[in-house]
Amino acid sequence: MTEKKHEFQAEVAKLLHIVAHSLYSETEIFLRELVSNASDACDRLRYAALTDPALTQGDPDFKVCLTIDKEAKILTIEDNGIGMTEQDMIDNLGTIARSGTSNFVDQLTGDDAKDMNVIGQFGVGFYSSFMVADNVEVTSRRAGEDKATVWTSDGSGSYTISDGERKGRGTTIKLHIKESAAEYLEPHRIRTVIKTYADHIALPVVLTANNDGEGEPQEDETLNTASALWTRTKSEITEEQYTEFYHHVGQAYDTPWATLHSKVEGVLEYSLLLFIPEQQPFDLFSPERKSSLKLYVKRVFITDDCEELVPAYLRFLKGIVDSEDLPLNVSREMLQNNPVLHKIRTGLVKRVIGEIEKRSKNDVEGFHKFWDNFGAVLKEGIYEDMEQGDRLLKLSAFKSTASEGYTNLSEYAERMKEGQNNIYYITGDNLDAIRKSPQLEGFRAKGIEVLLLSDPVDSFWLSRQTEFEGKKFKSVTQGSAELDKMASAEDDKPDEGKSDTPNLSALIAAFKLALDGKVKDVRESHRLTDSPVCLVADEGDMDIHLEKVLKAHKQFGAAASQRILEINPKHALITKLLERAEKSEAGDLVGDAALLLLDQAYIIEGEPLSDPVAFSQRMANFMAEGL
Ligand code: ADP
Ligand code: MG
Repeated sequence: MTEKKHEFQAEVAKLLHIVAHSLYSETEIFLRELVSNASDACDRLRYAALTDPALTQGDPDFKVCLTIDKEAKILTIEDNGIGMTEQDMIDNLGTIARSGTSNFVDQLTGDDAKDMNVIGQFGVGFYSSFMVADNVEVTSRRAGEDKATVWTSDGSGSYTISDGERKGRGTTIKLHIKESAAEYLEPHRIRTVIKTYADHIALPVVLTANNDGEGEPQEDETLNTASALWTRTKSEITEEQYTEFYHHVGQAYDTPWATLHSKVEGVLEYSLLLFIPEQQPFDLFSPERKSSLKLYVKRVFITDDCEELVPAYLRFLKGIVDSEDLPLNVSREMLQNNPVLHKIRTGLVKRVIGEIEKRSKNDVEGFHKFWDNFGAVLKEGIYEDMEQGDRLLKLSAFKSTASEGYTNLSEYAERMKEGQNNIYYITGDNLDAIRKSPQLEGFRAKGIEVLLLSDPVDSFWLSRQTEFEGKKFKSVTQGSAELDKMASAEDDKPDEGKSDTPNLSALIAAFKLALDGKVKDVRESHRLTDSPVCLVADEGDMDIHLEKVLKAHKQFGAAASQRILEINPKHALITKLLERAEKSEAGDLVGDAALLLLDQAYIIEGEPLSDPVAFSQRMANFMAEGL
């Protein structure tokens, strides 16, 4: 085969340009990425060899070898892992295959400083080679195949593929080191970088002997500890080592918010080394995102795609689970409905929730940071996990009318007013918008706290979870507010308001006539103080926002329930309209006002108007009359 030229996928070309030209200070991470890939390749072969032992015959010990050729200015990274075929190379070293690619590239702006920041969050993997090399040559031979392939590129636009030679399986990466990166031709530098970034790698990383210089190893020198990090004693692992392992295993580049390392012994034996990220992964809410936990059996990597290992509401977890009880040759089918796995999952869930609970008490500020990132995901567990749902609800942080920050249900319960039996909430898409909802006015005036729920998931758990410790959840946009029965914050005369509110019956009758077929009812409101009207759902009907969310998720097909229009007897506009209605001299005016006010109420709910033209005409007429 002659040399074939291929163009990089456009996103890769863009990425490479940034990588090669940026003034990124931490160039040393290229070594972490390449060693990490080598280790992954060995893990994959070790697993494949469980069913096909011939694959590792003659060369059973996995390792990564680094060789420095100072004269030729070449650093070589070599592994005897699974290797790549020609097609593998085209697929893996010319494209970005990971999910979320488009979001990723969308975020690149062409501004180096900003782009480095974005890249820092994703990692550039293999492409980081071009930070230190002006030419990269990859020779690889897939385990079980005879043919080797060479991939070369200078990192600008294209790469070439040609036939090559390789003694056995595995991958060799030759980096032609740039002048500016000459430090990576120094053994002491390589030693330090490996110790920092790859000590946790479970196979030996060896610097090969080279007998022609000072500081060069005289014989092969293993640079790392080379035992699986989770098998080591906690007290012997530094925070940096945990963090580096997290970067390797989680494809993440932040510092973990929490690190959970435990060995469980008893009926079942397994180790957990789990991390909760500090930053929100970019694909947390993308539908194709799966958990990123890796399953090992007796130190052998099995899969990183095992839905049974962890519930979806903990999909932000990174790390590993290593079981002593599963058979090594466990197949995908065996993992489904597997009782061992089920028990591990139960233990893992309890351990993780326990840790979050602990942090919520001991480190409230840190907990709220966690909540900003993952609260919306964790809340899925309130309705998905029958066993832990109540615990998660109790743990949950909420925004409320009581303060700017977070609160929780226990704190809410302590602040409940005399005569208040329900936990009030309002749901919507936007926190700032719902904070201003007219339905809250009466609650504010009486000093009754209302939870502001703006995550889509809130509507789902609310449809399952009806109470917290005996107190019912109740939407402020639903039913007749029990505000009258509760003491007012400003004065303690609950009946005071009643005496000076006018009798609205004439106006209500006129409104009902005008809005016939458009609303379920028109009635006097006790929840409004400043706005003239608002919409509420009838006692048995679905909350207004919930209905909207369920429709958006196609969980609810039927036509919207009709709403109740509540009118505020204390509002000047309402009292004026009442006068007109009582004199019954108003003609169409009161009817038009009713239609206008209904449309206004819809606008506040964020609902589209059924007839915007008619609305505008009525509005113009009213304004003309006023002038
Ligand atoms: P990631 O490791 O996140 O998948 P990389 O850019 O680091 O992304 O690597 C891209 C892909 O190239 C890997 O997923 C793997 O399939 C392949 N690859 C890279 N290095 C090796 C290697 N040493 N041996 C086998 N395959 C490799
Ligand atoms: Mg990688």
